[in-house]
Amino acid sequence: MAKKNLEKKTKYIFVVGGVISGVGKGITASSLGLILKNRGLRVTAIKIDPYINVDAGTMNPTEHGEVFVLSDGDETDQDMGNYERFLGVELTRVNYMTTGRVYKNVIERERNLEYKGKCVQVVPHIPLEVIGRIKQAGKNVKADVVIIEIGGTVGEYENILFLEAARMMKIENPKDIFFVMVSYLPTPGKVGEMKTKPTQHAVRALNTSGIQPDFLIARGETVLDEKRKEKISLFCNMAPDRVISAPDVDSVYDIPLNFEKEKLSEKLCDILGVVCKKVDGKIWNSWRNFAKHAHNGKETVKIAIIGKYFETGDFVLSDSYLSVIEAIKYSAYMQNKKPEISWLNSVDYEKDPKKLKELKKYDGIIVPGGFGTRGVEGKLAAVKFARENKIPYFGLCYGMQMMVIEYARNVLGLKDANTREVNPDSQNIVIDVMESQKEHLKNNSYGGSMRLGTYKAILKPGSIAFKAYLSTKALASAGGKKEIFERHRHRYEVNPNFIEKLENAGMIFSGQSPSGDLMEIVELPKKTHPFFLGTQFHPEFLAHPLNPHPLFTAFIKACILQKKK
Ligand code: GLN
Repeated sequence: MAKKNLEKKTKYIFVVGGVISGVGKGITASSLGLILKNRGLRVTAIKIDPYINVDAGTMNPTEHGEVFVLSDGDETDQDMGNYERFLGVELTRVNYMTTGRVYKNVIERERNLEYKGKCVQVVPHIPLEVIGRIKQAGKNVKADVVIIEIGGTVGEYENILFLEAARMMKIENPKDIFFVMVSYLPTPGKVGEMKTKPTQHAVRALNTSGIQPDFLIARGETVLDEKRKEKISLFCNMAPDRVISAPDVDSVYDIPLNFEKEKLSEKLCDILGVVCKKVDGKIWNSWRNFAKHAHNGKETVKIAIIGKYFETGDFVLSDSYLSVIEAIKYSAYMQNKKPEISWLNSVDYEKDPKKLKELKKYDGIIVPGGFGTRGVEGKLAAVKFARENKIPYFGLCYGMQMMVIEYARNVLGLKDANTREVNPDSQNIVIDVMESQKEHLKNNSYGGSMRLGTYKAILKPGSIAFKAYLSTKALASAGGKKEIFERHRHRYEVNPNFIEKLENAGMIFSGQSPSGDLMEIVELPKKTHPFFLGTQFHPEFLAHPLNPHPLFTAFIKACILQKKK
C-alpha cells in the first residue's frame, strides 16, 4: 500500500549545468522528458532563468536568444520551445520563472500582508516562492514528473537561491527530488585527451550547495570512454552507470535516442521509484522516424534568413531565431530535403545595394520578426528583390509588415510609406500602432504589454494560406468559417485605411481577426508570384517535429519548385 502511494507522488528532476553555458541543458531536459513520457509518465517542464528581467520579452535576443511566446502570452526563454516541441505539450506562464518574477511576487505578497506581519527574508521566502511555483506547475497538469532546468552554471552567484530551493525540497521529500548535472568535458587540441577535472570541480561546487547529482550527463566532442567514466564515478561520488556519455551530434533530435542506448529511462524510473512501462511504440517509432529524416535528405533546399540579431563580437549566433530554424527543418525533413540556412544581415543591403543580387542563389527567403529602425531599409530592399524576381518569400510578423510597406511604396507608389515604429512623420503610415497599444507606449509600459499569445484568425477560402491549412489539425470550423489559432507578439498592425487600396492593387488579406479589423495573413495570388506570403503571427512557435507547420510546409514546397526551375 505504502509503495502504491509513493508511486503516485509527483517526482521532480532538477537539471543543472556545470563548467560552461551552452552545453545543452535545455535539450537534455527536453530529452529526459521525452524518454520518460515514452514510459507512460505524464511529464511537464519548467525553466528557471536567473535574470532580474521579469520575462524574456525585454531581453536583447543577441544576448539571450529567442523570445519564445507561450499560448497564454508569456514571453519566455527559447528552452520553453524545446520542451513544447520534444514533449508535444502546451506550457503556461507558471512553467517559467526569472529571479525578477519571483521577487516581484514576493514583494506583491508582502504588500498584500500575506506574510501576516512577519519579516520577509531572502531565505526562506524567496526559495519558498520558487518551490510553490514548481509544485503548482506539477499540480496544474497532474504531472508524474516535473523537470526543472536551472539556468546558468553551478558556482554562479545568480542561481544560488534556486539551488537552495531545490535543496530545501529535497530535505522535505528526499525520495521525490533528483538531480541531473549536465557538464562539459573538454578535449584541448594540444593535449588530445578528454579532461574530467573541470567536471570534478563543478560537482564539488554543487556539493557546496548541499546537493549531490544523481546522474551526470557528460557532454563532449566525443564519446566518454570507460576509463574516464570510472574516474568521474570515483571522484564525483556516483556509480559508473550513472555517468552518461553525450557526445556532440549533428541533430539534437538524436539525443533522446542516444540516451536510450544507455538505458537512461530505465535507470531514471529506477531511482524515481516509478513503474517503468514498456516503451510506448507509437511515440518512439514516430520520433525515430523523424530523427532519421534529419539525416536522410540528400538534396538541399537553400533558405536565406534576413535579419539583424546574429552578430556577437566576432561570432555569428542563430539562437535569436531558433524556432524559425526548427520549423524550416521539420517541413524540409518531411519532404526529404536537407535545409541549408544562410544568415544574411539586412544592414549589408543598405551599405551596398549591389549585394542584393546574392539572393538569386537561394530557393527561398524569410524575413523573421524584428523591432526598431536598424536594418529596415535593407529588409525592404530584399522584399522588393524577392517579389520582382519571383523568389519564394515568407514574412514573419515584422517580415509581413515589410511586405505591406514595400508594396505600398513600389506598387501603390506611396514613396514614403512606412511603419509608425520607424517613421512617425510619414504621410503614409501603412503599418500603424494598434489602438490598444497607444496607452502602453504613452506610459512607457513596455514589458509584457504587446498583443501576446494565441488569437483566432479567419481564413479566406481558396487562398494559398487556406489551402496550406486544409486537411491539417490546425484548421478548425465554426459557424461556417474556417479558423486557425496562432501565437502573436506585436504592437503594430496593417493600417485599416490602406486595406482597400492594397487590395485593389492585388494584395490579398487571406487571414483576418474575427472582427475583421486586424490583418493576420497577407499574400499575392499564385499567378503573380510563386509564394509571397506573410503572417502577423509567429507560425514558428507552433511547428512541432512530428507535426510541421502547414505554412512552413507550403513555403518549403514552393522553394523546392523554385529549385527545379
Ligand atoms: N515590431 C513589430 C511590431 O511590434 C513586429 C514585431 C515582431 O516582429 N515580433 O508590431
